[in-house]
Amino acid sequence: MEISQRSLVRFWLIHKRLLISMRESSEFPCTRCGECCRHINRIPQLAPFDLGNGVCRYLQGNLCAIYATRPEVCRVDSMYEHYFKTYYTKEDFYQINTQVCEMLRKGQFENSFYL
Ligand code: SF4
Ligand code: SF4
Repeated sequence: MEISQRSLVRFWLIHKRLLISMRESSEFPCTRCGECCRHINRIPQLAPFDLGNGVCRYLQGNLCAIYATRPEVCRVDSMYEHYFKTYYTKEDFYQINTQVCEMLRKGQFENSFYL
């Protein structure tokens, strides 16, 4: 059976789309609520960024003004690769972080633990 060039192109485009959606779904599911950036007071690496009330000086609305150059401690994937990879699977690490995000949103983190 001969496959037309048109079918090949369509096949490739569908796969490309699938690959893109797989890559997107494997990223950390950040909702961009900004709560982690409003609770940096117990993170030593971010002490110079603290406005004095636990809020990062680079938080603009809910977004990071220095996103491309933000410190490593603000990068979930980088932290996983460098410090947590031997202890957790990526899925578990994402899940733990997601639980912390949820606790931050509910205001349950102040008297709890920090990772
Ligand atoms: S608290 Fe979690 S969901 Fe909210 S901005 Fe931070 S990482 Fe994203
Ligand atoms: S540097 Fe950016 S990502 Fe890190 S705490 Fe500040 S606003 Fe949030």
